[in-house]
Amino acid sequence: MLLTIIGCSGSFPGPDSPASCYLVEAGGFRLLLDLGNGALGALQRYAGLYDIDAICLSHLHADHCLDLCSYAVARYHHPAGPRPAIPVYGPAGTADRMIACYGSQGSAAMIESFDFATLAPGTIEIGPLRVTTGHMNHPVETFGFRIEAGGRTLAYSADTGESAALVDLARGADLMLCEASFLDGPDLPVGLHLTARQAAEHAARAGAGQLILTHLVPWNDQRRTLEEAAPHFSGPLSLAASGLVVNLA
Ligand SMILES: [Zn+2]
Repeated sequence: MLLTIIGCSGSFPGPDSPASCYLVEAGGFRLLLDLGNGALGALQRYAGLYDIDAICLSHLHADHCLDLCSYAVARYHHPAGPRPAIPVYGPAGTADRMIACYGSQGSAAMIESFDFATLAPGTIEIGPLRVTTGHMNHPVETFGFRIEAGGRTLAYSADTGESAALVDLARGADLMLCEASFLDGPDLPVGLHLTARQAAEHAARAGAGQLILTHLVPWNDQRRTLEEAAPHFSGPLSLAASGLVVNLA
């Protein structure tokens, strides 16, 4: 299983990275986890525009889904005709929300380009990937992911506050990709995002082999993100970056 970080900027694109988007490849199958704003451009450095087999949207905040509108344009208005529809898994209401984002006059592009399927907590097979989802602790319905293939496991937190379900999803994972939107401070909102320390604590509780901190918000000092996480996770720890490739084989 190969993970390529397309976008890891939290809540909005940054100067060096689009918003959330991760390319997971196994057995020639390509799955996108999230397709946040700006990600469709950077994606084309690492995969052919029409070589994506399926997309999972963790939730419907703009920084995790909005480039599906751009992708509908690229698929539906191809000079050789609309490209075949690919599956898009997301929370309830994903199709209606994406059509609204596109504009109702563009509903054909969205409907013809994607086969929308509604996620629920549980395990499904997507191509060669075994995908287990669980509800995260975020103001809108949000799914975290555990993805298994070839005896390797990747866990992705999406956006979440502290969550026992996240620890379950990441249990024994080779790699945990965990959001660290906040630095420690007073009066942090609960049920929204994790601090770097909390991300590390979740990874340690799950017994994850490696931790990559992501959803990095441009206004944070990312040296502090790493410093605040380091005392709480003893395994390999690093910050996500657009273009980073991790081979879990
Ligand atoms: Zn969110």
